[in-house]
Amino acid sequence: MQDYSEKVQVIHNEKFGRHLVAQLDIEAGDTLVEERPLLVAPHWECGQMKCAKCLQESYVMCRSCKMFPLCMDCQGHDDFECQFFASGGPGGYICKDLLVKNYGVCALMKFLLLLEDPSTRKDCERLLETPINLDDYRDGDGMWQEHEELAVRPLMASGLLMSLTQAQSLTADDLHAYCIRIDSYSFEVTARDGDTLKGVFVCGSLPHHCVPNTVVALDEEFNLKLYAAVDLKSGEVIYNSYTNPLMGTSQRQHQLRLTRRLECSCSRCLDPTECGTNMSSVKCRECPDGYALCELSSGGDWRCSKCSAILPAADVHELLAELGGALVEAKGELQAFESLLAQYKTLLHPNHFLMLDIKQNIASILRATALMNCMDQPSKKLLARRVELCSELLPICRAVVPGISKLYAIALFEYLLSLIELVELQFSEGELNKKEYATHLKTGRLVAKEAMDLLRFEPENSSEGYLVERLAMELERIESDIAKYGR
Ligand SMILES: [Zn+2]
Ligand SMILES: [Zn+2]
Ligand SMILES: [Zn+2]
Ligand SMILES: [Zn+2]
Repeated sequence: MQDYSEKVQVIHNEKFGRHLVAQLDIEAGDTLVEERPLLVAPHWECGQMKCAKCLQESYVMCRSCKMFPLCMDCQGHDDFECQFFASGGPGGYICKDLLVKNYGVCALMKFLLLLEDPSTRKDCERLLETPINLDDYRDGDGMWQEHEELAVRPLMASGLLMSLTQAQSLTADDLHAYCIRIDSYSFEVTARDGDTLKGVFVCGSLPHHCVPNTVVALDEEFNLKLYAAVDLKSGEVIYNSYTNPLMGTSQRQHQLRLTRRLECSCSRCLDPTECGTNMSSVKCRECPDGYALCELSSGGDWRCSKCSAILPAADVHELLAELGGALVEAKGELQAFESLLAQYKTLLHPNHFLMLDIKQNIASILRATALMNCMDQPSKKLLARRVELCSELLPICRAVVPGISKLYAIALFEYLLSLIELVELQFSEGELNKKEYATHLKTGRLVAKEAMDLLRFEPENSSEGYLVERLAMELERIESDIAKYGR
């Protein structure tokens, strides 16, 4: 199933290849694409065999084809791929234990069978439309090597190509190009057992922008729904994002280069303030309260926005590399993270992406501590610290993903949980009176409603759908306490 809304139009051009633009004015929340995946497959490095139908762990093989794993709960898998091996299609060329021995070939093998199957060939060919330059990838970094060892080489050696009319003449380079396309058209999807896989989508994969104007929703059946995150004007290009918005420009660009050979020059990448967040700003060394921003026009040196002092790019890189190393060294220790935060406060902007990284680490350690339920006196201090950190993250999440944002909704949820836990404890110990408690609960009510509102276009049977259920439960509890104490 692939379904474009009549509100978008498919366009081809040199810059983006096949992409979508708004055909008329679009409202935030409007569905733009609905699509079933062309292919859901394990990551290349996955060694644990998955059922060919439901993608949960399976050690048993399909009785008909004896090629693909099939779990006890599933009756059968894709007819074409099963029949192909069951009817002896490969003419005895290939070993039945190809997948058992080389599970990494799974995604590529399934793709070749989809290309062979007349009913899915067209979709595969659309995936192959945009040309790619293999020499951009062939530089021996992790990705090429991974494709080579886990998929391309074992598949070439298996004899499968000879038995496929569409694939007989394919070279190792052709297979590499297929692997790259499988990666670049895929979104991470989650199987019912919680393992992540890649879902390949022909229509839902769009050009990248670090501030996307759409949201990708994926349900438990791996169906994709792409909807507008903000209002869109007729003619606007529709974008996805393939990076973590809480990373700074240098980190995001590094990741995009590595995974997609992409040099991003979107509006956020060109804005040294990163949407006004200062996520890449460092403290000026010449004046007391200035911050240095990257000067794109002057070869990447940094200039203080107050006193104009220059901070050489090399110094900034050294500082970041040093903190990056220290973060690894911190090894999940609360105290280690807190002292890094105190130490680097004098060198980086409080919103710097590495400071945010430390804060997120601390907040998640505190959350785990709270879950272990050791609610003695010092943990109240920790709860208050968690509220503080969660609230500091809110405006940043809001700024880097405007409009309907799952990131912001999740940040609101984390803030809500920490706030409610803290004020409940304070109230039970008599530190807050009824009126003060009710005032905090009313803040909580607003937060819960805002988060639910941001998730209202998500499918019910998705992790975000379950988050909405959790939020509704919290809201009910809050309402009942407000009714009790808020008069
Ligand atoms: Zn199954
Ligand atoms: Zn089968
Ligand atoms: Zn960008
Ligand atoms: Zn300065």
